[in-house]
Amino acid sequence: MRINLPIDINTVKGFLDPIEGEALYLYAKQYVKNDPCLEIGSYCGKSSVYLGSAVKENGQKLYSIDHHKGSEEQQPGEEYFDSDLINAEGNGIDTLPFFLETIEKSKLDKFVIPIVSTSEEAYKDFTLNFDMVFIDGGHSEKAAQKDYELWSQRITKGGLLAIHDVFPNPEDGGRPPYNIYRRALESGNFKKLEMIKTLGLLKKV
Ligand code: MG
Repeated sequence: MRINLPIDINTVKGFLDPIEGEALYLYAKQYVKNDPCLEIGSYCGKSSVYLGSAVKENGQKLYSIDHHKGSEEQQPGEEYFDSDLINAEGNGIDTLPFFLETIEKSKLDKFVIPIVSTSEEAYKDFTLNFDMVFIDGGHSEKAAQKDYELWSQRITKGGLLAIHDVFPNPEDGGRPPYNIYRRALESGNFKKLEMIKTLGLLKKV
């Protein structure tokens, strides 16, 4: 696929497959028109570059929520810990400087708006509706269910819900993103568009 990204995406840390990234770009380009885009889980900004590039072309914005302290499995000693990301105190991680650098280098700072907060806290003050919501935050059952419950209500009719790390086969990965994907379908409020690798794409009906 030929998408012109503003930086070499391979220099940005993250867990998003380029094929999934391209899908995010194309869906954002198609769906994010009248209301902005929201992503939950910024990490170092990889998905924000794909989404941000699309919303920029559409004259829209991407709000990107993350407390930037990493999820459970990214903490020191855990499976997905990256020592480059260690915080100033040396007892956890801080992804905010990496995220800001990615956005700055991509010249997307007018289009990608960081919200440094937990998802739940942001929900209380932040009352916009969105043409597209991308859920890629905490992967615990509690965090994933909460993100779905809260933010799926804020998707405009005809808008898009994208969920990352959806593994239909339990042997391939954790359950929570798949569980909220199923929940969305079973609610009757969403219909399946397609699955691209582990990226589940649903349209609000
Ligand atoms: Mg993910």
